[in-house]
Amino acid sequence: MITRVRLPHRHPAGKTDPGPPPGPPPGPPREPPKPPPVGSPPSWTRWLLPLAAAITVLLLVFSRSTSGTPSTSYSYTDFVSEVTTGQVQSVSVNDKGAVSGSLKDGKKFTSQLPTALDTSQLTQQLQTEHVQVTGTQSSSGTSFLSVLFLFLPLILIVGFFVWSGRRAAKSLTGGLSSIGRSRAKIIEAERPSTGFDDVAGYQGVKQEVSEIVDYLRNPGRYLAVGAKGPRGVIMVGPPGTGKTLLARAVAGEAEVPFLSVTGSAFVEMFVGVGASRVRDLFDEARKRAPSIIFIDEIDAVGARRGGNRLGGNDEREQTLNQLLAEMDGFDQTTGIVVLAATNRPEALDPALLRPGRFDRQVTVPLPNQVERAAILVVHVRGKSLAPDVDLDIVARGTPGFSGADLANLVNEAAINAVRADRITITAKDLDTARDRVLLGRRESSNALLPDERRAVAVHESGHALVAALCEHADPVAKVTILPSGLTLGVTEQLPEAERHLYSEGYLTDLLTVRLGGRAAELLVFGEGSTGAADDLAGATQIATRMVREFGLSAELGPVGYASQVPHHLGEGPEELFGRPYAEQTQRRVDEEVARLLREAADRAAALLHAHRPALDRLAGLLVAEETVEGKVVLEILRQEQRPADGQPT
Ligand code: ADP
Ligand code: ZN
Ligand code: MG
Repeated sequence: MITRVRLPHRHPAGKTDPGPPPGPPPGPPREPPKPPPVGSPPSWTRWLLPLAAAITVLLLVFSRSTSGTPSTSYSYTDFVSEVTTGQVQSVSVNDKGAVSGSLKDGKKFTSQLPTALDTSQLTQQLQTEHVQVTGTQSSSGTSFLSVLFLFLPLILIVGFFVWSGRRAAKSLTGGLSSIGRSRAKIIEAERPSTGFDDVAGYQGVKQEVSEIVDYLRNPGRYLAVGAKGPRGVIMVGPPGTGKTLLARAVAGEAEVPFLSVTGSAFVEMFVGVGASRVRDLFDEARKRAPSIIFIDEIDAVGARRGGNRLGGNDEREQTLNQLLAEMDGFDQTTGIVVLAATNRPEALDPALLRPGRFDRQVTVPLPNQVERAAILVVHVRGKSLAPDVDLDIVARGTPGFSGADLANLVNEAAINAVRADRITITAKDLDTARDRVLLGRRESSNALLPDERRAVAVHESGHALVAALCEHADPVAKVTILPSGLTLGVTEQLPEAERHLYSEGYLTDLLTVRLGGRAAELLVFGEGSTGAADDLAGATQIATRMVREFGLSAELGPVGYASQVPHHLGEGPEELFGRPYAEQTQRRVDEEVARLLREAADRAAALLHAHRPALDRLAGLLVAEETVEGKVVLEILRQEQRPADGQPT
């Protein structure tokens, strides 16, 4: 593989998004977001506070402007002189002697009459100058209104708090049971039409769960013998492997009601609701017995109690305790089976897994090649396939795909067919769909420069030829220099059969193939490039594990230092937990890793040097045709050997 590296100065404008990284296929689509919890206020109330604030500000500004700020304030003497010079147009005087008026040029003014002095002369003056005089009252009525007006926002705010407080109180007391109940209706009670036929593969798993079907159909038989039927079965496996599907199939086969709920639905914002919801769920199931309760994603409630969580979650503990109590509570005659699914079994509380509760664990692994083919058959039902489609080949090319990924693949292929105005799905549709699911979307806009294309072709030819020449390497299926997602080109190798054990020879060949791309670049251009970064990182990781974990280094001998990072903490910095060996050993590990990598690189270089004509031909072919099948790679090697008979390979 050759990967795109974006150095900062080469970012094309507007294309800074690196796109989805290559790697494991994406999981199933996430659940849609939950509706807002019952107890929270409706969204419009969020606007109440800002609105009140805005009103306050507006009122303040407004009242300022009407109370005549722009008017000038005159002393009594100034006022009188304005009157005598004939400047005043009109005045209004209230009973306290406050004067406000306007001049002839339109200006406003205020003044205050000295009520202790005699102002009768002014009155006369006003008359002679023909000033319009109005008398007003400093009425308390208007001021009360304006005060009320000023305090209106405050009243609104206080009112809002009182109102929301009441609401919360209501939902905490009388409303509590009603919340639990209203959710109980949401618990689906249905009779699924799904059967075991809809679940492809997994014969072993089906065998185990068919016992539940048997029990639910005929609980009396178990009772007669005195045998205890299954109570709780927990299905464990990666996302998208069909756990939910299996649970529905069990209910469908047993022809009993199916009450399903996801673990996260128990965890709510109000204390005690989760526990009451568990009670409701089991009540409902008892009413409809025999029935199946299915708790999806049980790790949301069933996580270990106490211990390492920061700020422990009492609510979840109560819910879990209630669940444990309910599972203990129902006796053998009720005919209820609890199914649960999780992809994190290690996080579950041990009390859940105790006999009498979830006493059976069924592992639902990723499907193998045969099962993938069977799942594909299920999902192409009702679709028309072109004769060139071979589902076995598709299954071979999709290692690590879950059932959900395969369903998605078939759907993408069907969409491709629709786009091309066809009603049959061709092999090419499936191929394109797989590349899309695997590598993200094709970037047609990101065409390579001619010399980049050649560099990618040489790099991929290197991988392909080394893979074809190494005895233990998986056969080459396809080489392509079509860019897609983060990769500029890919050499695909398909294992002949699913492997569970890797020999040392296989691993060294793997390293050699990984380094073959860079070796070809060095051989043809005399220098390396950024494209090999991913190859190098992958090769280094394999080599490190060979030395540290698999005891495949003569220098270190048969030692295996398993990774010390505790499982539930995932990939963490190892320094945090301490190395299990001395500083000197680390040095020897580093040296051994470097030696393995160097040897692999030398071997790849030697192989390519010996087959230089084939390398040039394959690279040329790739530049011309972009994609070359594995058969063609072998053909090129065979042709090369014919003229130069006897050359070592
Ligand atoms: P999980 O619950 O394990 O995450 P789901 O049961 O939701 O996975 O599976 C998602 C989808 O994948 C299913 O609806 C189905 O279309 C498909 N699928 C998964 N496994 C199988 C299978 N064995 N046979 C047929 N379809 C499958
Ligand atoms: Zn590469
Ligand atoms: Mg599921």
